[in-house]
Amino acid sequence: MSEIVVERASKSFGSKVAIDDVSLTVDDGEFLVLLGPSGCGKTTLLRAIAGLGMVDSGRITIDGRDVTYVPAGNRKISMVFQSYAIFPHMSVRNNIGFGLRMSKTPKEVIQERVEEAASLLHIEELLDRKPSAMSGGQRQRVAVARALAMKAEVLLMDEPLSNLDALLRLEMRAELKRLLAEVNATTIYVTHDQIEALSMGDRVAVMKEGVLQQVDHPTVVYEDPSNEFVGGFIGNPPMNFIDGVVRQDKGRLAVELAGQKLTVGSALPALRAYGGKPIRLGIRAENMEAVQSPVSDGLKVRVEVVEPLGAQNLLTVTLLSAGSDAQPMKVSTHPTFGVTVGEQLWIRFPSHQIRWIDPQTQEVLSSG
Ligand code: ATP
Repeated sequence: MSEIVVERASKSFGSKVAIDDVSLTVDDGEFLVLLGPSGCGKTTLLRAIAGLGMVDSGRITIDGRDVTYVPAGNRKISMVFQSYAIFPHMSVRNNIGFGLRMSKTPKEVIQERVEEAASLLHIEELLDRKPSAMSGGQRQRVAVARALAMKAEVLLMDEPLSNLDALLRLEMRAELKRLLAEVNATTIYVTHDQIEALSMGDRVAVMKEGVLQQVDHPTVVYEDPSNEFVGGFIGNPPMNFIDGVVRQDKGRLAVELAGQKLTVGSALPALRAYGGKPIRLGIRAENMEAVQSPVSDGLKVRVEVVEPLGAQNLLTVTLLSAGSDAQPMKVSTHPTFGVTVGEQLWIRFPSHQIRWIDPQTQEVLSSG
């Protein structure tokens, strides 16, 4: 059992609040990804869990034991750093066994564990080489093997793939996911790459400016972001946001978007409180439908850019209306959908795909 519980943790560096009242539970054996933009406090939180930096307030328990002020060496955790932190002139064998030697593990156990970890990472043939003569991907494997050889029940990884080129990153992502499922350690993995987070994590914890925004399964975080920040940070392209005003139209609820009227379904009780007030519509590029002839339930747009991406064509369109600021949107269409810049299209917004956002709080109101 290696559940990690963080309760109301805060830490500042001078006047800079790095983590702000963070509470988080990582279940035994779970793979949780900590995701957020640079400087949002991911590393500070990870280091606090590792014991490499203490929190100012709050409590951290691992396996039910309060470790808030316990030094790193006594926490039974293993860590992989972005920089790998391996010794370039020490053999791979000695690098992998380093932590075990420090903890005075018997020699035969070290040998067994080093070979087992090397075999998991497919680097058995590199054991007698020096990292100084190895590629970035190989060094990265050594760093992970060293962490696994410790057989700690908690594994903490800080952007372990960020020094690799795009292709190797893609390969290592899947490899690490397979590997971590095999070793079944409770893992916290820090990244600012949202694709990595969605593809690897059992759950994703999204942070912004030291504050946890949402912690949930990747599909939930993607489809039902709790607020505008999460919708805008996750997804490529990010969620579209369009500003409008809620109107009552012959007893039916409608939203005026750049002078055009979008009638919305009746199952939106939260929206009724916004009559006459500003609202923000959030929708993902792949959840809209583009049609080339006028439809009464679609909004008229102009095509500004067409990006053929192979599996899809990504269109940048703007809502057509007199006197309003053009609001660009990204719409994904089938690659065979023939369209040219300057053309007019009609865009349908399926109501169950719309996320309504309060422009002031930037919180999502309800699923449409
Ligand atoms: P990145 O992805 O760039 O590593 P991060 O999300 O991990 O960023 P942190 O490294 O945790 O963010 O930093 C959070 C905030 O705390 C930042 O504003 C950073 O400048 C500040 N900070 C972190 N460590 C220190 C330190 N030792 N001294 C002063 N400020 C610090």
